[in-house]
Order: sequence, then C-alpha cells, then structure tokens
Amino acid sequence: MSKRLPECFIEKIKKIEMILKSVVDLGGVPYLVGGSVRDLVLGREAKDIDIEVHNISLDDFELCLRKFGDVSLIGRQFGVLRLHGYNVDWSLPRKDSIGRRPTVEVDSTLTIEQACLRRDLTMNAMAIDLSNGAGSDFDVIDPYGGLESLKCKTLCMVDKEKFVQDPLRFYRVMQFVGRFEMKPDDALQTVCKNMDLYDVATGGALARERICEEMRKLLLKSRRPSLGFRWLYELGRLEELFPELGALVGVAQRSDYHPEGDVFEHTMQSVDAAAKLSLDDISLDEKFVIILGVLCHDFGKVKKTPGHDVEGVPLAKSFLHRFTRHTMLVRSICKLVRYHRMPITLVEQKSGLKAYKRLAVKLAPEVTAKHLYFVSWADIRGRNKDGHEPLDKAFVLGDDEIAVFLERIREAQVERGPEPPILLGRDLIDTVKPGSKMGELLKKAYKIQIDEGITDREALKKRVIS
Ligand code: ATP
Repeated sequence: MSKRLPECFIEKIKKIEMILKSVVDLGGVPYLVGGSVRDLVLGREAKDIDIEVHNISLDDFELCLRKFGDVSLIGRQFGVLRLHGYNVDWSLPRKDSIGRRPTVEVDSTLTIEQACLRRDLTMNAMAIDLSNGAGSDFDVIDPYGGLESLKCKTLCMVDKEKFVQDPLRFYRVMQFVGRFEMKPDDALQTVCKNMDLYDVATGGALARERICEEMRKLLLKSRRPSLGFRWLYELGRLEELFPELGALVGVAQRSDYHPEGDVFEHTMQSVDAAAKLSLDDISLDEKFVIILGVLCHDFGKVKKTPGHDVEGVPLAKSFLHRFTRHTMLVRSICKLVRYHRMPITLVEQKSGLKAYKRLAVKLAPEVTAKHLYFVSWADIRGRNKDGHEPLDKAFVLGDDEIAVFLERIREAQVERGPEPPILLGRDLIDTVKPGSKMGELLKKAYKIQIDEGITDREALKKRVIS
C-alpha cells in the first residue's frame, strides 16, 4: 500500500532532489536503504540517510556527484561515497562472497532484492525507490519480510549462511534487542547461541572499536539498555563475553538496602535509570561515560562489599578493555567507580565544604562531581523489588541525600570541576625558576588552598616559600 513520506523526511529528500534527478537522468535508480527505511516505517527520526544507487557504474556515479561538490570515497572497493555538506551515505549495490575470507564486490547490475541479501536482519533489508523524488507516494520494497518482523517485534536473519560471516552482527542483535525491545526468532537465537565470534576476515578477534560502536548505541539509544545484557545472559554468553558483568549474577546483597535481589539485577535496573538522564543536562559523550560508570560501579562486590569501590577499579578496566582502547574513557569510568560511594558518604558524615572540594580535585580532570551525582542518582533507583524497571523515586538511601550532595557541590562551586588554583607560576617567578621545584610549590599551595580554605594569593605564597 502506497503512503506519503513523513514531512521531516520530505525535507531531507528535497535537499538532495537535484542529485537524485541527475542520477535518474543517467539511467540510475536511487533507493533509500538500511536503517533509515526501518526508522521511517517505525515513525522514528532517521539521522543518517543511506542511498544505494543501482544501474550506474561507480565512475559515472562519482562524476555525477562531483557536479554537486567535493566527494570522498569512504572505501572505493566498497563503493561508498560521501558528498561534503550532506548527511547521506551514497553507495552502489554490493555482494559478499561466502568463505573464510569473504570479499565485497560492487555490482551495479544487481536487483534490489539481490542487493538486500547482504544485509543482516530483515528489518534492515527494506528499500524505497526514490526515483520520483520526495513528493510522491512510496511503496516499501520488502523482499525478506522486514515489515512483518517489525510488527511482531521479532528479529530475523536475512540469510543464515551470510549472517555468521561477520561476528559484528551478533553484537548488532544485542544492540537491537535493547534499542527496539525486540526478540530474536528461534532461528536467530540458535545461531547467536553457537556463533563463532572471531572475525573470519582477519582470523582474529573482532576489532574492539566495532563492538564499542554497538555498545554505544545500546547504551545511548535504548530506553532499557539492560535488555541487551539480559539477553546475553539468557543466551548463556554473558560470562564468556563480559565475565566481569556475568560474575555479578547470584552475588547476594543486604536485603534491607537491596530488596531487588542480586548485584546483577541492581546493576541492570541502575543502568536503565541512567538511560533516562536528560540530554538537557549532559552531552551524549558524558552520558555514555555515566552509563558505563553505572554499569561497572559494583563490579567489586564480587570480592567484598565494604571496599567494593576500590576493588571494582581493575575489574572495570578489564571489562572496558574488551571493547575500547580509549584511555580517557577508561580513566573517566574508573574514577566514577572508585568514588561512587562518596556522595552518600559525604552527606551521611555531614562533611564540610572542604571535603566536597577535595572530592572534585580527585575526580579531575576526567570527570566532575556532577557526573558522580548522576551515577548516584541512578544507583539509588536500581532497587525495585516488584519488577525489573528502575524506581521513579528512590527510597532507603534516598533522593534527599542525593539532593543534599547536589546542593553542597553547588555551594562549594565544584559542580563542574575543582576550584581553580589561586597561586600560579607567574606569582613565583621572582623567587623560583620554572621547573620541578616550582611545580612542587604550586602543588603544595593548591593543597593548602583546598584543605585550609586560604584564598589570599600573598598568604599562599608566604606559606610555600617560607
Ligand atoms: P543506526 O540507526 O544505528 O545507524 P543501522 O541499522 O542503520 O542503524 P548502520 O551501521 O548505519 O546501522 O548500517 C546501515 C545498514 O547497513 C543497516 O541497516 C544494515 O542493513 C546494513 N548493515 C550494517 N552493518 C551490517 C553488518 N555487519 N552486516 C550486514 N549488514 C549490515
């Protein structure tokens, strides 16, 4: 049944209408493909647009695009091009060979049905013919039953033999389970249970960055990212792929503080609470760090309960190294794990502002007291004994304590970073040469400033050079 494209989408297509026309004039057929068709069917906003152009050679297509601006080839042999200034990936139809080292081959004569065969899931293997531009009605070309799979909320493979060729597809399933709250059908579930997760193309492990990309989508685009991890557990592969997370299953906790059950249940609920954090308060990158901090915050409980914050740091590191090499990311998350008990501790101990200032110094430069506040906010919500969704309002260790923490870091003016140092190198230049000695004195001065609350520059100078 034909439908009209939604308005927001028409706007996007209108911007490239001249290009589409130029492609059609050369005998090409432009199809909207991949996730953007799926998102359109679901009524979700599609950020990236993928257009696959059939019936035209790569050289002719590249020439055609160059008339509209600078073109970069993302991978010539893969036939993917980008025209600067447009958020569109342009590609030519490709086919993968099957075998130990599959190769990708551009073949502009493929039909859309043949080209869709290389896609992972049926919901991602649909297309819309854009030859008539944005204004016309459209039909979804759905050769493998993607529409039905979306209707039944079931993830289905396009082709089993091809699916297992790329282990990334396994992690994509994990991501889609969380993000679209869909379940794999029996065939896909069986394949995922048994699939080899080494990369056939390289003969080694899957590149961490590729797994990280899926982790990022799971954590940032899902209402309940926990569904992806719970699926891994039900599949029987959580221990194997993320042992630090798998080890949390069955680890008991004090039932008065944690009526929800074991550490895994608590972590899953807390992660879902963190996923609710509004992007008005934090950037996407900050939210990624916070959710990962929440995911790792109780890893140490496998070893002991008091002191689990310290014990958790090496475990968080080994967990993160399974999918990232990003040093700053790992250090940020380790800081959140190490200090995640501090908001509650400082409030319970009725600590003075200096303690909050010291905490901000310890957290810097990787994270801030506000980030730690968000981790605590999620932590106290992961305690629902009557279901798996996080609590809207916390109890036991409650919102009141967390609100006091926020108030105090604001009062201490360290919400977004520690107090800036008052005594600087230029203040000492008349007495000490720049170098390690000066560095030591500045460090000492800063410690006095934070610990004793001395904010007078001359007084600080006197203290360190006396
Ligand atoms: P998102 O909205 O997260 O971008 P997406 O499904 O569009 O979701 P992309 O990585 O942009 O994800 O991929 C675009 C399309 O390419 C997918 O919809 C799918 O058809 C295909 N695709 C991506 N990765 C694979 C893969 N590893 N194996 C098979 N097909 C893939």
